[in-house]
Amino acid sequence: MRLRNIPGSREAIASSQWCVQEPELQKGRWRSFFGNDNPIQIEIGMGKGKFLLELAKRNPDVNYLGIEKYSSVLLRALQKIEEEPLPNVRFIRMEAESLCDVFGEGEIAKIYLNFSDPWPKDRHAKRRLTSRQFFLRYDIILAENGTVEFKTDNKDLFAFSLEEIKEAGWDLDDFTWDLHHDDARNAKNITTEYEERFSSMGNPICKLTASRS
Ligand code: SAH
Repeated sequence: MRLRNIPGSREAIASSQWCVQEPELQKGRWRSFFGNDNPIQIEIGMGKGKFLLELAKRNPDVNYLGIEKYSSVLLRALQKIEEEPLPNVRFIRMEAESLCDVFGEGEIAKIYLNFSDPWPKDRHAKRRLTSRQFFLRYDIILAENGTVEFKTDNKDLFAFSLEEIKEAGWDLDDFTWDLHHDDARNAKNITTEYEERFSSMGNPICKLTASRS
């Protein structure tokens, strides 16, 4: 998601109580950052935060960190949480490539990836958030029984992701190529902004869950 650069967005983030400033300083200490022992889940590339905020509302006993690289996009999420504060949510403006500088070993209980950038050119495959290179990072920061959940409408990216999970030696716990027409799997689904947009255009939504044995 790219929005026009919004003047002042960097400053708004730098002075916001909802955004973690210098997140590297919290590495290995996120539990004390939140002040409780609740599990910590992250969404990478949260966009305007619709999914994360709804998830956090439904699960007050879980702490959530929303990660987004663009200030102008993150600003939208900030505006939402300011209207409806949630004690179990914070945001981080950062690139997913530096995950291991910000989270210690096994600190994260679950990772959500929703409608991640497809990077269609082969030579950019390692930038995809479901590439084997990213699974190596997830392997470090995820707790032993931690999971990765991924949704997309991009069939090529989904097929690539299924293959990468195998290559990375992870287990594919569950998957569907058409989440919205699968009543059991769809029952508790929380839609994202992109999901609503692509689904209303008639695109089926794919979803998978992966973990290590
Ligand atoms: N999850 C949202 C937005 C999807 S668009 C939804 O489903 O509606 C993908 C988002 O991921 C964009 O906002 C983009 O800026 C962000 N993003 C892409 N690559 C990223 C990376 N490497 N690190 C952090 N954020 C990233």
